[in-house]
Order: sequence, then C-alpha cells, then structure tokens
Amino acid sequence: MIPYGHQEILPQDIEAVTKVLQSDWLTQGPWVEKFEEAVATYCQAKYAVACSNATAALHLACLALGIGEGDIVWTSTNTFVASANCARYCGATVDFIDICSKTYNINIDELDKKLQLAEKNNRLQKLIIPVHFAGQSCDMHALKQLANKYKFYIVEDASHAIGGKYRNEPVGNCRYSDITVFSFHPVKIITTGEGGMAMTKDAQLAKRMQLLRNHGITREAEDMTHAPDGPWYYQQIDLGYNYRMTDLQAALGLSQMHRLDEFVAKRHTIAKRYDELLNGFPVAIPWQHPDTYS
Ligand SMILES: *Cc1c(COP(=O)(O)O)cnc(C)c1O
Repeated sequence: MIPYGHQEILPQDIEAVTKVLQSDWLTQGPWVEKFEEAVATYCQAKYAVACSNATAALHLACLALGIGEGDIVWTSTNTFVASANCARYCGATVDFIDICSKTYNINIDELDKKLQLAEKNNRLQKLIIPVHFAGQSCDMHALKQLANKYKFYIVEDASHAIGGKYRNEPVGNCRYSDITVFSFHPVKIITTGEGGMAMTKDAQLAKRMQLLRNHGITREAEDMTHAPDGPWYYQQIDLGYNYRMTDLQAALGLSQMHRLDEFVAKRHTIAKRYDELLNGFPVAIPWQHPDTYS
C-alpha cells in the first residue's frame, strides 16, 4: 500500500525529546522559545507563536484580527476543515472561493468577480484565508493587491508549506499577509506529533496571540488593571484558551527543523519521479507555477 504520508524520526530526534523528558520542564518552556526562534529565523518572520496544533493557531489568528459575530470569512474550496472552522469558532460566517484547475489554489479571477459582487451587495468579507495546497504558494502578490483594494485581512493557511518559497522568499515571512500558519501534524513537512505555529511581522498581533494561547493571563504589569500585588501576581485580562505547545513537542520540532530542506528536497525527487513516469498517460500532472517552490 502507498502510505498517505510518513514521518521520519531519527535517533537524534529521540535524543532531543529524551533530554527534555529528563529536565524540570515539560510544558511550554525554554524549548518552545528555541523552536519559535528557529522557525522565525528560517522563514524571515519577526514573530512566531507556537501552538498545540495549527487549528488552534488559525483560531488565534482569527481572534487576534478581531473576527467575530456578523463577520464574513472566505477560504479555499480545496482545503481541510480547519481553515473554515477557525472562523466559525469566532461566530463568523464562512464562504468559499473556487480554485484554479492547474494549481488547486484560490482562483484569483474568480475571487475578483466574487469581490465585485460582494461589494455591490454590501456583503464584504473581513478576512480571506488562502490555502497553499500541497505546499505550493497561492498568488500572494495578486491577493495582496485585492486586499488593498477591497480592504480585507489575509491569513495564509500554510499548513502544507513550511520550507516552500514564493518569489524566492520563504513562505511564512508574511510579506503579503497579516499572519501565516504552519502545521506540524505527522503528514505535514516536519512534525511535532501535534503542533502548529503562527508567524507575523506585527508585534501587536503576536502579543495578542501569545495572551490568548495562555488563558488570557498576563504577568506584565503594564497590561493589568491595577499594580501587581507581588512578583507572583498574574491577571486574566481576556477569555483565552490553553493552546500551548509542550517542550517535548518543541524539542522534536527543533530537531526536525535541521532536516527541513532535506525533507522538501526528497518530496521534490519523489514528485519528479511521478511526473516522469506518468508522462504520456491520460492524467493531469500537477503544475508548478514558476513563482513558487512547493
Ligand atoms: C493539517 C491542516 C490543518 C490543521 O492542522 P492541525 O495541526 O492538524 O490542526 C489546517 N489546514 C490545512 C490545509 C491542513 O492541511
């Protein structure tokens, strides 16, 4: 049987996790910070917020952008349920944009038509969540131009796309979006068992996602309603969630990051083999846009 996907766990991955198991800290701690730093550096993003999974990261992204009751969020027809559900968790209404039959990503012409119609009907969406299907980036430049014209936020669902590039820059740098989300589920590019991460270049969005990831609790005096009672003092200033990643997962993720380029190269080798061997058969072979490195 051809497996849907399979993680690669090497002795160094096991060693990294074992080291954390023997340490004092198992929940979110120093390894989460190191993992966030490694992914941010790789993607040339300013901030990284590790989460329990990408669905949680997408939910935090919607919350940080203020998505709520009465808002409309659009995403791709070709995706996993989470890119729509994250908006529904916030009480928003979801609608879908058809895809391009060559890239399997959001069809920009269809989107443009849909936006014109929405504007006419005064039913404009607040956020669009493009999905980089199978690791190939959407046409982010065109999407950003439409965002400027019609005024909507962009959250890239890059669950499949860590290690990918758009116009020679890493997916995740958020040049054309507000937030980009990665998944580390075992069928994705690198794994932490369960895990996800939200990337952004906006300090306020990062801070908001960090707060809501940890129950809405703060230890920062400046964010409290009154001066803290002592060094142990914390305050819940918003209704947040427990969406933290554990240090065990982060250690595995950090160890996997060292082989990210290798994993991506291997996928390219396998894809090339399929392309060559299927060439000449009456099947459509996936097309790669020259702007993207899947
Ligand atoms: C896997 C996936 C998710 C959700 O990721 P989890 O880490 O499992 O929550 C979201 N969107 C897409 C497109 C995915 O493939």
